[in-house]
Amino acid sequence: MKIYADNAATTKLSKKALEAMLPFLTENYGNPSSLYTSGQLAREAVEKARETVARCIGASPREIYFTSGGSEADNQAILSAAELGKKAGKTHIVSDTIEHHAVLHTLKKLEKQGFEVTYLPAHENGIVRVEELEAALRDDTCLVTIMYANNEIGTLQPVREIGAVCRSRGILFHTDAVQAVGHVPVDVNLDNVDMLSASAHKFHGPKGVGFLYVRKGVKLLSFIEGGAQERGKRAGTENVAGICGTAVALEEAVENMPANALKLTALRDRLIKGLAEIPHSALNGDPLKRLPSNVSFCFEGIEGESLLLLLDDRGIEASSGSACTSGSLDPSHVLLAIGRVHDVAHGSLRLTLGDDATEEQVDYIIKQTGEVVSYLRSFSPVWRNLVSGKAEFIL
Ligand SMILES: *Cc1c(COP(=O)(O)O)cnc(C)c1O
Repeated sequence: MKIYADNAATTKLSKKALEAMLPFLTENYGNPSSLYTSGQLAREAVEKARETVARCIGASPREIYFTSGGSEADNQAILSAAELGKKAGKTHIVSDTIEHHAVLHTLKKLEKQGFEVTYLPAHENGIVRVEELEAALRDDTCLVTIMYANNEIGTLQPVREIGAVCRSRGILFHTDAVQAVGHVPVDVNLDNVDMLSASAHKFHGPKGVGFLYVRKGVKLLSFIEGGAQERGKRAGTENVAGICGTAVALEEAVENMPANALKLTALRDRLIKGLAEIPHSALNGDPLKRLPSNVSFCFEGIEGESLLLLLDDRGIEASSGSACTSGSLDPSHVLLAIGRVHDVAHGSLRLTLGDDATEEQVDYIIKQTGEVVSYLRSFSPVWRNLVSGKAEFIL
């Protein structure tokens, strides 16, 4: 059996999206800024895509800026808000400890420039508390940036409530909604957000394209200097095919969302129940307030990396929270932030199901994971210490 269970890392391009893209990669190659027919065809396609994207999140087309993806949208939203804040004498930002690195590293850069950042705890369930956010706000707070859904443990933040608090205090609220858009209902008005980042390849669109929503009336600095594209905020010839693919993929994802969410939630809970039967294991993050497709576990006494390689041998493609693949020995900052100790955080597994997942596949994953975990423990020195009583079990 072959199962791709790493949909939080990226998703398969939808057929409809590919079909919408192809003409702009072949015959219709005009530049949207050109005045002749082929250019205007491309311009119309980009503007139609902008309307579709806007409609899918309850925005108006003029509030959508296409970018090269989620990372760019995060960087630009935060840097723009910070620079404008600084001009008004406000250099305090509120965020949390489990943000994506596109947000955390941007905040680190701002800290070096003199900004002060309050990182709210995400607690054991991976969710920030609105009271703590409220208490962290100051007169010099220029921005709150809290993600919609976490990419590792799938937890959903109380975005609507956070937005309402920010709104009542007149503070700008940005949310990294890369994992949420196309997967759970997102509406910029109901959710009280001022800026929102999204990425196409996380909802069956193409890689290298995404968008930033900026509420009308919120000032935005230009993020790439050059031509007048994207209303003068982001220069560069538009990724016409990518933008068209983004719109079609998002429209499709939103259309299929109710059915997919229902089906995936049932499969997710089946998977959680099955994996929880493996001794000395634990689910990461809130069991209910999480994305329909996300299952994240820690298994004591093993290395996540070895688990991934052995699962891959058995046809299962998944991910681990431990960051050894990126050349670092540190386990995931998210798992540490929710209170997993180093050893436990190293034994993590993230499974993110696709829309085409089946019960049969879920049962296969449960069986294979159980076998591989037992096998790895059979020669793990850490596990030996645990069973012999030299070290204490945590899970
Ligand atoms: C994937 C991801 C990003 C980065 O998006 P790219 O389009 O790959 O740059 C940012 N934030 C979250 C939460 C993500 O999951």
